[in-house]
Amino acid sequence: MEGKKTYLIRCGEVALKRTNKPYFERMLVERLRFVTKSHKGIDIRREDGLIVVRAPEALDEKTLIKEMSRVFGVDTISPAIECPSDMDELEAASIAFMRQRIETDGVKTFKVDAKRSDKTFPVTSPAIASRIGEVVLDAFPELSVDIHTPERILYLHVRRERSFLFDEKIAAFGGLPLGTNGKGMVLLSGGIDSPVAAFLMAKRGMLLEAVHFHSYPYTSERALEKVKDLAFLLSAYCGKFKIHSINLLPVQEAIAANCPEDEMTILVRRFMMRIAEIIALETDCMMLITGENLGQVASQTAEALVVTDHVVSMPVMRPLIAMDKVEIIEKAQEIGTFETSILPHEDCCTVFLPRHPKTRPRISEILESEKKLDIDALTTIALESRKVFVSTSTSR
Ligand code: ATP
Ligand code: MG
Repeated sequence: MEGKKTYLIRCGEVALKRTNKPYFERMLVERLRFVTKSHKGIDIRREDGLIVVRAPEALDEKTLIKEMSRVFGVDTISPAIECPSDMDELEAASIAFMRQRIETDGVKTFKVDAKRSDKTFPVTSPAIASRIGEVVLDAFPELSVDIHTPERILYLHVRRERSFLFDEKIAAFGGLPLGTNGKGMVLLSGGIDSPVAAFLMAKRGMLLEAVHFHSYPYTSERALEKVKDLAFLLSAYCGKFKIHSINLLPVQEAIAANCPEDEMTILVRRFMMRIAEIIALETDCMMLITGENLGQVASQTAEALVVTDHVVSMPVMRPLIAMDKVEIIEKAQEIGTFETSILPHEDCCTVFLPRHPKTRPRISEILESEKKLDIDALTTIALESRKVFVSTSTSR
């Protein structure tokens, strides 16, 4: 199309949802429109099981592809050329397409992969492929066909009125469109793990809200800015979300004054879960999400996780539970949160770190220790300290 560049969006798993397919596709189109809304003149529509994006030629291709590839539910993206579905037109377009590949990329070998989705088109798919192969070879004798390891595959997608030509399928993240799977409350620290956990749940279509605990003035403003920066990075994938920031210091001080030192970590974690659940209920979240990982630290042994869960009735999602640290780090690097996560700012958990945290807490002894605390009053004090931020405001 004149003055426009075309991009084909394939939706992988979304396409598998039979009866729900139109709903998932609509959500996906909505998300694509949302992430590209700062650009003028973009047309995004569903056309016979494909999502087709037409954008002004002047718009930088890399920028647009990056934005669209962050939309969950998008499996692959192909920049494409369009032409009318007619054999002469397809031949001319294929020659122009390959000329450009030879001139700019020095391509020497290719093959053609044709698919006729319009069965009324008079030429079959294999016949289209061999005819186009012939005309391209005639036009460029320096080219040769390599069936097994071609430098380029010229894909022809022949449809009812217009056909598409492309040679790239750029991988995106896959998953399901945001908003198709409820809403979850993520416990977002400044560490490596919880941003990855948030990303993975959002990738399955879950909207997010977040809670962050700090121990100001023991933890600094900079530590909070770091969490806002992480939320900002996440919002490129997860959309805009709210972060409830809570001062946990009065809770930590009460525990330190009244309870055994080795139970500090687990008691604090139970408070985090209690408070997170209250905010989750207020904000229509149906589950809690943490970055916990089996056995990683004292508070994440099997026993500690059971004692942590005991305090809430909402399901707790731990998408990293069985991953190795290396895998988690790789994911954090891939999504771009790692560099921020490793900035050296103190976390509220490190403020009252016990010398020997209990690794095998028992629920009976933890409940006994909690009798020494005024749980409701402490929870109320913590909630009164709440400040709410949105993930799109950062220190930068
Ligand atoms: P992370 O890298 O996500 O901080 P971690 O390996 O440091 O995780 P912990 O500090 O034990 O592990 O925390 C386990 C989980 O508890 C975190 O992944 C996060 O979901 C939640 N959490 C811990 N600290 C905080 C905090 N200050 N604010 C909000 N949530 C927290
Ligand atoms: Mg941490």
